[in-house]
This record gives sequence, C-alpha cells and structure tokens, in this order.
Amino acid sequence: MIANEPVFRVLRIERGTTVDGPGFRTAIYLAGCSHHCPGCHNPQSWDPDGGQPMTLPEILAVVDEEDFNVTLTGGDPLYHPALTKTLVDALADSGRTVWLYTGYTWEQIQDRPELREAVARCEAVVEGPFVESLRDITLQFRGSSNQRIIRLKG
Ligand code: SF4
Repeated sequence: MIANEPVFRVLRIERGTTVDGPGFRTAIYLAGCSHHCPGCHNPQSWDPDGGQPMTLPEILAVVDEEDFNVTLTGGDPLYHPALTKTLVDALADSGRTVWLYTGYTWEQIQDRPELREAVARCEAVVEGPFVESLRDITLQFRGSSNQRIIRLKG
C-alpha cells in the first residue's frame, strides 16, 4: 500500500452472484452503515472498521479475475460516498455496469450532492431502508416492498 492511498474496508467479495442485479455479478460488500434497520440481515456490517483494508487497485484486481458486472452492497456503500465514488467511477471506466444498494432513499440521495455524485455513473440504485413489516421474499433484487430499483441507464 502507498502512504495516504485511500483504503476501503471490505467485508467480502462474492463472485458469480445472481441475486444482487441482473446476470452473473461480482458483489463487493463494503463495511459501515448508519441506518440500523430493524431486522437487518447483516448487522455485523454496520461497523465501519469491520472487514479487511483494501486499496482501489487491490479491489479492481479481484474484479478483473472475472468478466462480471459489479454490485456494491454492504453495509451501505454510501457510508463513505467520496470513497465509493472513486470505486464506481473506476468500474464504469473499465466498462462494467454497477448496481449499488443503499439504505438512503432516492430523494435523500438527490438532496445531498456527495451522494448524488457517488451514484452518478451507476446503472441502477436499489434504494431505501429494509422495512421488516414489508419484507417480501418474492421480490427480485429487493428485501422489502418499499425499496425501489432506480435505473439511471439502460
Ligand atoms: S441499510 Fe442494509 S445493511 Fe444497513 S441496516 Fe439497513 S438492511 Fe442493514
């Protein structure tokens, strides 16, 4: 690692998932979430210091082992919007489509420039907190019916 190089906290990287967006994808789980939704499937992901430190080139090297498009999830990738923007932009530059899961609603994203900029080059954002009373296992790519898939491209 180079001194002062931005470091991501990565919980895990899953290759070939089909449940977090269309087709086979590489899913990157980023640590840190402030939403604390009751019934969250992964509360250990809330700790921003969880997971392993990885630099952008290290993450891209893992992604490049497959031809898959990428999903950023967590945790909430928008916990560190500026950092996540660098990852989204690098993935988009490499020709991959990016889906991003966040507990923020689309309206909250639009209200905050740093969140808006972070998702600008995503193909889709799956937005909103998980609401246990609205949990629906028949929904594709979503956990509860309040969540929406916002398509920015395609
Ligand atoms: S946004 Fe996702 S990771 Fe964060 S608390 Fe809600 S369900 Fe859990």
